[in-house]
Amino acid sequence: MNIFEESKQKKIHDIVSVVKLCSLLFSGIIFFKYLFISGNITNNYRYTSYAITSIITAAFMLILIYFIWEFSIIKNINYKYVKIMQLIENFIFIFIFFVLILLSGAQTSQYKILFEFIIITSTIESGMKQGLIMTCISVAIILTMDIVCLPNVQINQYFENDIILSGLFFLTAWPLGYYVKIEKDHIKKLESLANKDGLTDTYNHRAFHDALREQIKSCEKEYKPLSMIFIDIDYFKHYNDFNGHQQGDEVLKKIGLLLNTSVRKGDIVARYGGEEFAIILPYTEEKDAVVIAENMRMQIEKTYFKGEENQPNGKITASMGISTYPNKAKNDVELIKSADDALYRAKFFRKNRVETYSSILDELKNDIEEKHIDVVTSIKTLISVINAKDKYTYGHVERVVMYSRLLADKLQLNDEDKKNLIYGAYMHDIGKINISKEILNKKMPLDKEEWEILKQHSINGVEIIKSVDSLKAVSPLIMYHHERYDGNGYPENLKRENIPYLARVLTVVDSFDAMTSNRPYNKRKTYQKAIEELRRCSGTQFDPHIVEKFIEVIKEIEDTIFL
Ligand code: GH3
Ligand code: MG
Ligand code: MG
Repeated sequence: MNIFEESKQKKIHDIVSVVKLCSLLFSGIIFFKYLFISGNITNNYRYTSYAITSIITAAFMLILIYFIWEFSIIKNINYKYVKIMQLIENFIFIFIFFVLILLSGAQTSQYKILFEFIIITSTIESGMKQGLIMTCISVAIILTMDIVCLPNVQINQYFENDIILSGLFFLTAWPLGYYVKIEKDHIKKLESLANKDGLTDTYNHRAFHDALREQIKSCEKEYKPLSMIFIDIDYFKHYNDFNGHQQGDEVLKKIGLLLNTSVRKGDIVARYGGEEFAIILPYTEEKDAVVIAENMRMQIEKTYFKGEENQPNGKITASMGISTYPNKAKNDVELIKSADDALYRAKFFRKNRVETYSSILDELKNDIEEKHIDVVTSIKTLISVINAKDKYTYGHVERVVMYSRLLADKLQLNDEDKKNLIYGAYMHDIGKINISKEILNKKMPLDKEEWEILKQHSINGVEIIKSVDSLKAVSPLIMYHHERYDGNGYPENLKRENIPYLARVLTVVDSFDAMTSNRPYNKRKTYQKAIEELRRCSGTQFDPHIVEKFIEVIKEIEDTIFL
C-alpha cells in the first residue's frame, strides 16, 4: 500500500470507527433502557447486581473496541492482519446487535435496524463484497428469528415486515458498495496517470523510488533478495543525431513495450532517466536476474528499429548492470549506486552486455583479518576523498581495476597474484591523500618542489596500509608503480627485473588510463594513439612483454568500442 492509499484508509477508518462507537453507544442506551425501564428490577439487591453487570458489559465492549481500533492503526502492521481484525470486529458487532434484539423482544424488537450500522461501515471500509456478506448474515439472523419465534402462525406479520427491511439492507449495501468500487477504480486510474511515463508506459522516476522502498521492505521482512537491472541504450545520442528525436522517441516507446512484456508479474519497469530504464525484481536472486537481463538484451538486439543500420555497431543495443539486495547493497541508495556501477562496467567494455556488480572491498573483507576491517573501510573513504579532490582522475581507479582484471587473465596470473594485482590497482593512489588539491589539479607543469611532493605518494601509500598483515603483498605494487624499466623512475630507481613483476604490470595499466583520460595538462589520447605511445616507451618506461600482452587486451575490446 502506498502512502496515499495508507492515509486514505486511515481517514476512512477514523470515520468508520466513530460510527461504530456511536452504534455501540446506542446499543448501551437500549441495553440500559431494557434493564431499568422494563420493570424487571424490583428490589435494591437486584438493582445493584444489574447495574454492576451492565457497567462491566459496557466497559468490556468499550475496551474491546478500543483495542481493535488501536491494533488496526498501528503502523507497519501487515495489511492481511488488519483485514482479519476488521472481519472479527464486524462479527462481534453482529453478535452484540443480535443479543440486544433478543433482549428487546426478538421478532417484535424495533431495533433490528441496528444492523444497518454494520452494513454501512463494512461496505465503506472493505467494499461491496464485504458489505453484501454482512447484509446476508443480518438478513438471515432477522428472518430466522421471525420464523423460529413464531413457528405455527398462518400469516407471520413480522416476517413480511422484515422482508421489506431486508430489501432496505440490500439497497444500502449494493449502491454504496458500487460507489466505493467506482471511486477505487477512479483513484487507480489517476494514480496510474501520475505514476506512469507518458512516452514509454513504464513507471516514472518518482514511482520507481516509491516502489523500490516498498519492495525492499517486503523482501526484508521475508528475508528474500531483491535484484535490480539498470539499462542504458547504447550510442543513443548518435541515433538521435542521425534519425532525429522523434524517431528516437519511437525507439524508447518500443523498448518500453518490450521490457514491459518480457518481465514477470510483480516486476516493476521504470524509465529512470532520458534513455535509461530500471527494473525492480522482487524476490529474485542475482543469477535469475542475469538470465532475465540477458534475455532482454538479446531481444533488443534482435528487434528491428528503423534507421539502426547507421549505428556504430549496426543495431540498437543496450547495456545492463545488475545488483542485488542485501548481498551487494544494504539499502535502496546503495542498490541503485551499485547497479549503476555495474552498468558503467558493461558500457566501458564492449557495450551491449550484462554485468553484475562486484565490490573489491567486499572481496577484500573476506581475505582480511577481523581486526583490520576498519582499515578497509578507511581505505574506501580515502579513495572517495582522493576522487573528490582530483577531478581529473574520476573513474580512474575503477578503470585501472577493470583493465587489471583482463590483463591478469591474459598473463595467466595465478589466483593469488591476480588478487594482489587487483588490490594494488584499487589502492595504488591512496598516498595522494596528503597532497593538496592545487597540486593534483594544477594545469601548468609542476615545479621541482611540487614534483617532489607528488613523488612521495607511493611511499605514503605504503605507510597507510603497512599495519595490515594481509596486505603485505600489495605494498610493493603501491611502492613501485612509478618505477621505470630503464631505472629512471621513483622512488628507488629500480631497473628491469628488480622491479616487482606485478608493479611493472600495474605501471602499464595505470599509464594507459592516464593517457586515455583528460589530465590537467594533457588532452585525452585515442586508444590508437595510446597504443603507439605504449610501444614508443616499451623497453624504456615499460616492460616490453607486458606492453605487448596489454595491447592484445586493448585490441580485443577496442573493436567494439566506438571512439
Ligand atoms: P552510451 O552508449 O555511452 O550510453 O552513449 P549515449 O549516446 O547513449 O549516451 P549519452 O548519455 O551521451 O546520451 C544520451 C542521449 O539520450 C542524449 C539524448 O540525445 C538522448 N535522450 C535522452 N532523453 C531522450 C528522449 O526523451 N527522447 C529522445 N529521442 N532522446 C533522448
Ligand atoms: Mg545515458
Ligand atoms: Mg546511452
